[in-house]
Amino acid sequence: MNAGRARSDPFPADGPAVDARAAAAVRSFLATPRRMLVDGRWTGSESGNRMPSLDPATGELLTTVPAGTAADVHAAVLAARRAFEDPRWQHLTPADRGALLYRLADLVQQRGEELALLESLDNGKPVTLARTTDVASGVATLRYFAGWPTKTEGATLPVSPRDGRPSFCYTVHEPVGVVAAIVPWNFPLSMACGKLAAALATGNTVVLKPAEDTSLSTLRLAELVLEAGFPPGVVNVVTGLGPVVGAELAQHPLVDMVSFTGSTAVGRSVVTAATGNFKKVLLELGGKSPHIVLPDADTDRVVDAAAAAIFVNQGQVCTAGSRLYLHESVFDEVLDGVVDRARSIVLGRGTDERTGMGPLVSAAHRRRVEDHLRAGRAEGATVVTGGGRPDDLDPALRNGNFLEPTVLVGADRSARVVQEEIFGPVLVVLPWRDVDDLVEQANDSRYGLAAGVWTSDVGSAHRLARRLRAGTVWINTYHRTDAAAPFGGVRQSGWGRERGRAALHEYTETKTVWVDLG
Ligand code: NAD
Repeated sequence: MNAGRARSDPFPADGPAVDARAAAAVRSFLATPRRMLVDGRWTGSESGNRMPSLDPATGELLTTVPAGTAADVHAAVLAARRAFEDPRWQHLTPADRGALLYRLADLVQQRGEELALLESLDNGKPVTLARTTDVASGVATLRYFAGWPTKTEGATLPVSPRDGRPSFCYTVHEPVGVVAAIVPWNFPLSMACGKLAAALATGNTVVLKPAEDTSLSTLRLAELVLEAGFPPGVVNVVTGLGPVVGAELAQHPLVDMVSFTGSTAVGRSVVTAATGNFKKVLLELGGKSPHIVLPDADTDRVVDAAAAAIFVNQGQVCTAGSRLYLHESVFDEVLDGVVDRARSIVLGRGTDERTGMGPLVSAAHRRRVEDHLRAGRAEGATVVTGGGRPDDLDPALRNGNFLEPTVLVGADRSARVVQEEIFGPVLVVLPWRDVDDLVEQANDSRYGLAAGVWTSDVGSAHRLARRLRAGTVWINTYHRTDAAAPFGGVRQSGWGRERGRAALHEYTETKTVWVDLG
């Protein structure tokens, strides 16, 4: 792994203006090589090896984190196991469990600016987005789930007497046990908060593994977990490489559940590894979401929404509206509008308030996206705008992983750029004429995470919502989420649902109790 160039001040005096207190807190966090959290103690890896955390806008070293090993995973899993059985966690009242989560939410909110700056530096995303999405949704999800421990109810069941003897039968929802939470790099803090919130509200203990490129906000979050007062071992964080730390968590016999968010390819290996002890597996995987525009849509709103649906977070969003299906009657108008929006996006450091798009998360990821672009061109697609690395950026950013917002047309429906998740700022625009053919094209995907529909006709909207194979359908909006709304995919976009009441079922087991009433 690239060791990064020498570190300079992440907030240079001649750079963008930032909140001084939050910047000082981030500087001090980065000044110390970070450790991971096992059993309530901060520790290095047993191997002593460390990994660099790089600023994707400059390629400079931010700090280093431990490169965890299988032995580190084992120690963290044993700690989580002990904590799960410890009366300090087991006998906590539902109200006290909720109070701990509310306290954590308050701390994340209080440290919001610091966390947003840290996330922006580590991931590259605009700080404006880190505030409104990563931090805000992290806080909202923690608060939402904090309310559940006191409201989770079982049922009494209308069972029939057997041989004349009546029974009383009821269900209770119990925690699964030790949950391994594996998160990707695109929304590191909010994913970590979301998985912790649901797992802890339902009484589990957790070993959390951040993505190797973006461990920092999770390590800061872990400090806040301790400050909130969670007992030692209830939350553990092991940093390191996916094929080492993630793979060990997925196969570990003392882990009861894996909650995984990431690519479909790695999700498949998690499923295979989990069969050893038949862990519960929750999977939030990739997507290639169709964004559909009918002839009667409000095209002014569509243009803004279609551009945001693909370019927000540099296109590194699982639900990115990456296939834009425009009815032929509005094709030119909407395409021109989206291309204008793409050309007006300001590229720069994430920490600069003026930035609309930051760098991609890593040099390796930019190369992957560029490979997709090459394949698209080779298969006949035309680049209407973008398609390359920007050449007009501040010289301080010349080693950053920037890529222009890109719009492609003329791709065949079977082309790789139409079928494969690119996970970058690349939009494929396709025309349609007949609604049945449109539905066939939209559903012609191995994925099924989300879809968007724009129309002023309520009947068309609901008919399409029924016919589209996706876990979420947005009508006259896109990318809207809420802690109360279930989220997840069908087909190769995953198993199960996070957020909302639906998540409670994922993180619990239902126990059925029978009592003979004689
Ligand atoms: P990734 O699958 O490469 O990595 C995700 C996590 O898995 C990381 O923490 C990584 O270290 C770990 N990992 C890697 N190899 C592993 C292994 N063999 N066993 C266990 N864990 C392993 O994904 P990524 O590149 O970090 O994220 C991008 C992908 O995530 C995209 O496909 C995107 O669509 C998907 N994603 C899905 C959702 C959703 O909710 N559906 C949300 C965000 C991202």
